[in-house]
Amino acid sequence: MTIYEQARRHAYMMAGALVLSIVFVLTVERIQGHSTIAFAIAIVGLVLANARMLKFNCPTCGKNLFFRGPLVVPWPNRTCGKCGTELTKPSQNR
Ligand SMILES: [Zn+2]
Repeated sequence: MTIYEQARRHAYMMAGALVLSIVFVLTVERIQGHSTIAFAIAIVGLVLANARMLKFNCPTCGKNLFFRGPLVVPWPNRTCGKCGTELTKPSQNR
């Protein structure tokens, strides 16, 4: 599996985690009324789940696939924004 496919899988997982978090917060709000704790749990959960994002780096130069310059986007680059490596092709050195 290429680094791009792994990163894309992570992007899908994060989208799912985001939906689950929203459903979780809405459910708690419906049962208990407004809950800051439920909101905090959802945010912490998302941040922890997204920490894996930092592992998806370009095999050539180490630039993260989710960064476009200084911006972080929820979808990985197909080609490295720094060195132009084709990330959809399997790398030889891994
Ligand atoms: Zn690169």
